[in-house]
Amino acid sequence: MNGLPPAVGIDLGTTFSVVAKLDDSGRPVTLVNAEGDRITPSVALFEGGQAVVGKEALKAISTDANSVALCAKRDMGHKVFHQALENKQYPPEVIEAFILNKLRQDSVAQIGPFSKVVITVPAYFDEVRRKATQDAGYMAGFEVLDIINEPTAAALSFGFTAGLLGKDTQAENLVVYDLGGGTFDVTVMRICGNSFTTLSTDGDVQLGGYDWDHRLLDHVAELFVQDFYLDPREDICARGKLWRECEDAKRTLSARMKATITCEFKGFTKRVEVTRDEFAAMTQDLLDRTRFTTEQTVRAAGLEWSQVDRVLLVGGSSRMPMVKDMLRQVTGREADASSSADEAVALGAAIHAGNLLSLSAGNAPSFAIRNVNSHSLGVIGTDPATRLPRVGVLIPRNSKLPKAVRRTFRTQKTNQKSILVQIVEGESSSPENCTFIGSCRIPQLPPMLPAGTEIQVVFRYEPDGRLYVNVKIPSINAAITEEFNRENNLPKTLLDGWRKYISGADPTDYQ
Ligand code: ADP
Ligand code: MG
Repeated sequence: MNGLPPAVGIDLGTTFSVVAKLDDSGRPVTLVNAEGDRITPSVALFEGGQAVVGKEALKAISTDANSVALCAKRDMGHKVFHQALENKQYPPEVIEAFILNKLRQDSVAQIGPFSKVVITVPAYFDEVRRKATQDAGYMAGFEVLDIINEPTAAALSFGFTAGLLGKDTQAENLVVYDLGGGTFDVTVMRICGNSFTTLSTDGDVQLGGYDWDHRLLDHVAELFVQDFYLDPREDICARGKLWRECEDAKRTLSARMKATITCEFKGFTKRVEVTRDEFAAMTQDLLDRTRFTTEQTVRAAGLEWSQVDRVLLVGGSSRMPMVKDMLRQVTGREADASSSADEAVALGAAIHAGNLLSLSAGNAPSFAIRNVNSHSLGVIGTDPATRLPRVGVLIPRNSKLPKAVRRTFRTQKTNQKSILVQIVEGESSSPENCTFIGSCRIPQLPPMLPAGTEIQVVFRYEPDGRLYVNVKIPSINAAITEEFNRENNLPKTLLDGWRKYISGADPTDYQ
């Protein structure tokens, strides 16, 4: 990468994060953190308003659970993290920024100063969560070149390893099944030579290994209650300690047929043996949810299973034998576990970063990515028949990006001062079942516009799934570019403040 900054990709996972870069020969490699590990727990322990991130923070879950943030990524898109930390409420993207800052510092120590990165997001992330991820990167002192969908990154890494990049190979339909710690993502892609095209995507931001852990935790806690009339789940630290035991036992059950979990609470101890079959039985419904979504996504791509050439396993939880068994049953063949389940996403992000840097230096792209929107975009209007609010879909899900649509609104009265457009993402016609993205108040309309004046609003999804809105009033030739009002994202001034506080960098301070 002559003269170019290092190409760095970050997989900011719900439970684990990984950093990768392209080496001098253009091959993606994982970087180790300050502790010498290739994967860093995405866990932050808050102490006096600063955060210790990683392994140390994870250990503190048994002693200082009230100051430990777990799975902040699951709360992205919400105003604040669900749990106060040191009695303070943090926006989830700020917690993510502390995690990214640790990854940045550890990487700088190895490869020298850099600021340009690609960060990955679940394909199923909605617009607000995507923006929040970019903001987290900014607050951590980065310049976020792009966000890339995790399955796409995994497919890139697969393409690289399989030697597909740069070759004129036959088209292949690939299903990426990514079951991580906190999210489930499934994507159908078509790889043809150098083009990576997403056909359909779906998932669940509230389903991952963490839920499997909690089935074990509840099982053990209930047996403990039966014996001692005491519930270890009521004490946040005892609960944290038991969770770690259960997560460990879950990993054991991927390799062996049984595992033992020890629960200690208030001087009592219980040892519970769990077999692989028992574990599979108590989590069957969770696995079924992934199967259902996977089958639906293949159908949404317009494919039969016989047309799927490969199922790529990604995410630490795809190591559970029950996942491979289920996919074998559904597809009639073995899933491909050749990619490193933990690292593939970060490696792919580094490949994408390398491509972007090389493009910006005036080189030809080495591959092309085509993405789809994971949620339908709509605006809230009023149903003329019922007078109830209803969602009008503007861009259906799984549309190829970028995609723009124009919608015409009309002023209702003379001299109307403003128009309010409320934007949602989701698959339901009732607004309350959709995610509210934000509102676009078109303020300060020029005075004395007659009633019925045409206001044209263009909604545009960029390839990264981010939304931009433009407004035009053709009759007076006016164009208003409004950053629409985001309900749950942080304003620029706060982002700048946090950036300085967390990373020490000023707003335009890039290396
Ligand atoms: P994320 O990207 O969501 O942070 P990862 O892909 O790193 O998640 O996967 C982490 C999850 O994988 C955790 O829930 C962890 O317990 C689980 N996991 C990792 N290794 C194994 C294994 N051998 N068996 C079962 N689960 C595993
Ligand atoms: Mg992941």
